[in-house]
Amino acid sequence: MRRLIYILLLMAVMPWQAWAASRDHYTVIISLDGLRWDYLDTYDVPFMQQLAREGVKAVMQPSFPSKTFPNHYTLATGLVPDHHGIISNTFWDRERGVEFSLGNKETRSKGYYYGGDPIWLTAKHQGVKTATVFWVGSDVTINGEHPTYWRDYQTQQLDFQGRVEEILRLLSMPEKDRPHLVMAYFEEPDRSGHNYGPLHRLTRRAMEDVDRLLSLLWARIQMLPIGSEVNLIITGDHGMTSVDPKRFVDIDNVLPAHWYARFCNDYPTLIYASAPQFIDSICNALQGVDHIRAWKRGELPAYLNYGTNKNMGDVVVLPDVGWLFADKPSEKQRGSHGFDHMAADMQVGFRAIGPDFKVGYEKPDRFRNVCIYPLLCYLLGVTPSPNDGSLDEVRDMLR
Ligand code: AMP
Ligand code: ZN
Ligand code: ZN
Repeated sequence: MRRLIYILLLMAVMPWQAWAASRDHYTVIISLDGLRWDYLDTYDVPFMQQLAREGVKAVMQPSFPSKTFPNHYTLATGLVPDHHGIISNTFWDRERGVEFSLGNKETRSKGYYYGGDPIWLTAKHQGVKTATVFWVGSDVTINGEHPTYWRDYQTQQLDFQGRVEEILRLLSMPEKDRPHLVMAYFEEPDRSGHNYGPLHRLTRRAMEDVDRLLSLLWARIQMLPIGSEVNLIITGDHGMTSVDPKRFVDIDNVLPAHWYARFCNDYPTLIYASAPQFIDSICNALQGVDHIRAWKRGELPAYLNYGTNKNMGDVVVLPDVGWLFADKPSEKQRGSHGFDHMAADMQVGFRAIGPDFKVGYEKPDRFRNVCIYPLLCYLLGVTPSPNDGSLDEVRDMLR
């Protein structure tokens, strides 16, 4: 009987294991914040073009909302933000009566906000070492744990060159200590995209600088003894679109202030009513206002996959791409994101190269970023936890 159970168990895991890549390979995944897909076609980025020739070129669709914290944690867990709990960069925690915010270390570093099973824990529990060089969630104690190697975003900062050195150091560790997955984060081209707009020459320059830096990283990886065993994936969290303080809907002109207790000044805007009877009033007042869409929580269109989380605003307001909804226009920002995740400008660039990826393959359709988690599980040879993605959607990129 015991033997039969053993065989049945083995059969249950076999299809995945039979498909899994060799654990001998290593994978480095780089997230370039705000890597709008067409930067890689229109800017002077020879390394990204080399990757397209020698590896895989694709366009990746972010999850809604197209913001940094929700999408980095989606890349790590394969869950859409509504399911993993980081529903925005800023949201109200109804139970505890506090605001979660990426800028507030006190709330940002509480593990109970981070649901699902991030890849570094999936791997660790199956005996595979991982490292992060600043990845959203990886400097937070989640279920009592961290990646094997990680750094604190606030207190252990490194400049971009320092991050490259750190990736190389991790890949040069003795075999028994060496992580099989390295995840690293860079703030550009998002920072320039916000300050100057996606089409400005300084955003182009930031992208071209990052391209040179990553070209050197790849050249130095190739020189390592394990060079030919390393996969490199370069992608990001969302795109970027041009904004202008003139394309602005003023919340004070459309809603009486006593109807809401608070709103999170971001895209989408999460509005928390001051009393339940005002929820309909808020929603009705916003219907018909030009350049925004508004829904009650639980009533958002299915394609957004958003609106059921316990911390969701009572009303969710989404401005049209390139429009702003707030209490004052941001005079400084020339670029923004957070808009409809299907919009062209929100799409993300994707390149991959290495022993597990096809050579010179351009993926015909874009894929959802929830598929990165099952892809990483495959590359590491570990069994994924339940997730919203599918390996089938990205299998065509693999050798
Ligand atoms: P966004 O408002 O969506 O453009 O957020 C981008 C900002 O997120 C960047 O400027 C980073 O400073 C910040 N950020 C990225 N990763 C982390 C992290 N792990 N911890 C705290 N802040 C982060
Ligand atoms: Zn971002
Ligand atoms: Zn940004």
